[in-house]
Amino acid sequence: MEWSISKLSCLRQCHRKFFFAHELADYHFTHPIRRKAFELAQSKNLKMWQGSLIDYAFSDKLIAIYQRKQRPDFNALADEMLDIARRQFAFSEQQLYRDKGMTKSKAGEAFQVLDIHESGAPYTESDVETIYSTLRQIIIQIPEYPSPEMGKSLHEYLSSSNYLQPNINYWHYQFGEVRLKPQIDLVRYSGKSIHVIDWKVSDSYSSDYSNQLYLAGIVAYHNIKKDAEKKGWGLPARGDVSLFEINLMNGNIKEHAFTRESTAGALDHVYRFRNEQEQLSSDKKWNELNIEDYETTDKRETCVFCKFKSLCIHLILNNNRYDEPEYYKLVQNHQLAKTQVSV
Ligand code: SF4
Repeated sequence: MEWSISKLSCLRQCHRKFFFAHELADYHFTHPIRRKAFELAQSKNLKMWQGSLIDYAFSDKLIAIYQRKQRPDFNALADEMLDIARRQFAFSEQQLYRDKGMTKSKAGEAFQVLDIHESGAPYTESDVETIYSTLRQIIIQIPEYPSPEMGKSLHEYLSSSNYLQPNINYWHYQFGEVRLKPQIDLVRYSGKSIHVIDWKVSDSYSSDYSNQLYLAGIVAYHNIKKDAEKKGWGLPARGDVSLFEINLMNGNIKEHAFTRESTAGALDHVYRFRNEQEQLSSDKKWNELNIEDYETTDKRETCVFCKFKSLCIHLILNNNRYDEPEYYKLVQNHQLAKTQVSV
C-alpha cells in the first residue's frame, strides 16, 4: 500500500472528501463525475494559487538556474512568473479545462482551475492584483532571505551547493507493508552535509509539518545510502542529514531534528493509521465502492474550506446521482453559500 501524509491528512478530515480526492477523481472525460472530481481536486482558492505560483517559481524555475551554476536575474524571473500567472488566470476564467481536447500537458504552464471560476467563490479585481504584486515582491526579496547556513543569504546558500535536486517524488522506502513515497521539495548537498528542505508558502503558523519532514528525511537518507553503497562511496551517517522548513512568504526557517526518536515517532504515526485507508477502499476499483460508506464530517470548518463542497452538496441533494446540468445550475445560482452539508 502506498502511503502519503497528505492522503492521511485528507482521510482524517473527512472520509467523503477522501473518496472524492483519492478514489473518484480521474482526468479522463469518460465518466463526468470522475472528471468533475478531478477538476475540483485541482482547483485552488486565491491564497492557494498564490502559494502554488511562489512554489513553482522556486522549485521549477529558480533551482534550475542554480543547478546550471548561473546567477538568477530576479526581475526577469518576476516578469516571467507574472506572465504565467496571467495566462493561468485567463485559462481558468475561460474554463478551458472543461474542453475535452484539453490536457494538462497540452496546456502546460497555463493550466489552472480557480474556485472563483469553477465554484463561483466571490472575489474582487483587487484580490487578484494583490496576488500579482505579492508574487513580484517575494521573488525580488528572495536573495536576501536568511538560509540554514549561518551568515549566508539564501542566494549564497543555493549558489554554493554541490548538488541540488528539487521535486523528488520517485524515491521510496518500504516500511512493512506500507510504501512511503513522499514529495520532497529539495535535497541539497554541500560537502558531507545533506539538507532536506520543505518549502512553505502560507503565512499561517498553525500547521505542524514535522511528520511530513521526518518521513521525507527517512526516505532521502535511505535512498542516498543505497546509492552510495552501489557506487562504492563512503556511506552517509544519520547525523549528516538535517531537515528544514523554509517559509517562502517571509524567509522564516525551522529546523526539525533528524534523530532516532523523531523518525521512530513519525513511523509510529504511519503504523497507527495504516489500516484506516485499507479498511475504506480495500484496493477496490472506483465503481465497486459505495459513496454511502464514506461518512461526511460534522466539522463545519472542514466543509467551509473543502474543494469538493459543491459536488458533495449536489450529490446529497440528488440522491448521490451526478447530473451535470443540475450541478452547474446549483453552482451558478450561488446556492452553495447558503446550503449546509448535512448527513
Ligand atoms: S463538503 Fe464537508 S462533508 Fe462534504 S466532502 Fe467536503 S468536508 Fe466532507
